[in-house]
Amino acid sequence: MPPTSTERPLVEIRGVNKYFGEHHVLKDIDLDVARGEVVIVIGPSGSGKSTLCRSINRLETINSGEIHIDGKLLPEEGRALAHLRSEVGMVFQSFNLFAHKTVLQNVTLAPIRVLKQSKAEANKRAMELLTRVGVEDHANKLPAQLSGGQQQRVAIARSLAMDPKVILLDEPTSALDPEMINEVLDVMVGLARSGMTMLVVTHEMGFAKKAADRVVFMSDGAIVEQSTPDEFFSNPKTERAKEFLSKIL
Ligand code: ADP
Ligand code: MG
Repeated sequence: MPPTSTERPLVEIRGVNKYFGEHHVLKDIDLDVARGEVVIVIGPSGSGKSTLCRSINRLETINSGEIHIDGKLLPEEGRALAHLRSEVGMVFQSFNLFAHKTVLQNVTLAPIRVLKQSKAEANKRAMELLTRVGVEDHANKLPAQLSGGQQQRVAIARSLAMDPKVILLDEPTSALDPEMINEVLDVMVGLARSGMTMLVVTHEMGFAKKAADRVVFMSDGAIVEQSTPDEFFSNPKTERAKEFLSKIL
């Protein structure tokens, strides 16, 4: 169902500024993500894309501005923050799986600890999700026994196991060998088509064209331009976007 204009956006970022010391890395960021919307963030290295993602589930604190998730102000700390984090899934470039736990344990850990699911319940759901991302045959292996593409698919399943309201994926395919990129992108396209709300930092244009509703171009800590993927890739408006695209295309 397309988001209706009267509905409050699932993610609302208003006037957000972030400094690392003197370095102003997020400059008055305003960004909404509607329920079910897939937003791609692209831009040069160092433009603040990861910091923005990390601010949305408070892995970084912001210096000013407000972030609301599903109408709730991002909590400062404590149980409210833990709860918020369970609603905002995060997938990183480096898969960040627990090395000494099996694939299945990686997926069930948080549902058991945080959502208080029974082990049987968590295992059942985890196997469904591992099947959905195509790694069910590897459930009892350790992450190191899997390829990078498989590990990243496990990381996506782990994030889905918390039933998040939105998933943030920060360059999920950048650390992968080229032949493994598509298997991860296919899972992401499936997720997008299932109606998941997603904010994805990626330069994968194929994904952007297949699955994105909107492209947000960041440069030097600011949102410089946003439009549909077709419009952005065929007809960028700003010089900075044109220059960036000339380098990646
Ligand atoms: P991107 O993901 O677009 O490459 P980042 O959000 O990682 O950009 O970084 C934005 C800027 O903030 C960069 O100049 C980076 O060097 C700086 N930065 C990121 N993390 C830190 C940190 N923990 N401490 C100091 N500076 C940081
Ligand atoms: Mg980054």
